[in-house]
Order: sequence, then structure tokens, then C-alpha cells
Amino acid sequence: MTARGRRILASIRKAGPLMEGSLTMTRKKCGNPDCRCHREGPIHPTTLLTWKEGRTTHTLYVPVEDREEVAQWVEEGKRIKALIRELSAEQRQRLRKRRDRRR
Ligand SMILES: [Zn+2]
Repeated sequence: MTARGRRILASIRKAGPLMEGSLTMTRKKCGNPDCRCHREGPIHPTTLLTWKEGRTTHTLYVPVEDREEVAQWVEEGKRIKALIRELSAEQRQRLRKRRDRRR
């Protein structure tokens, strides 16, 4: 492996809890029929996690007390995804060099 490849791999190995997807802030109506949201429309801030499986987008409601933690997982997921992309490019480069040497 190249020094750069080893650095990327070391960073991937240090990964914490992670997940694919993204967090979306939106507003919703609550369950209380007397609340003004039922007259004025959705007012309560809420967080949704969305992710894709194949062509289908899935959604999961994230309770406010879990929002910070889930945000960290999503951030870590993005970081690792970017590192995988970088390492893939590095490995392709190695493969090309190897091929050129054999010519
Ligand atoms: Zn309400």
C-alpha cells in the first residue's frame, strides 16, 4: 500500500458508530386535537431520518432526545463513505501503475 493508502485505511479503522442516510428537519401536527397546530397547520419541529435501499427511500421518525446522537452517526457515515471513495481511487491508481510496470 502507498503511505497515503495506509493513512486512509487507518482513519477508516478508527470509525465510530455510523449510518447511511440524512436527517431532515420538518414540522408536524401533534396528537392533541385541542392544540393550535390542528387549526394553523404543522408547527412542531420534528426530525426524520431518510435513507435509500435500492430505488426506495425510507423514512424513520427520530425522537428529539436521539437527534444529536443520530446526527453524529450520520456524520460519521459520510466521513467513512468519503474515505472509502478516496481509498478506492488510490487502489485504482496502484492497479494502473502495476499494469504499466508489466508492459
Ligand atoms: Zn400540536
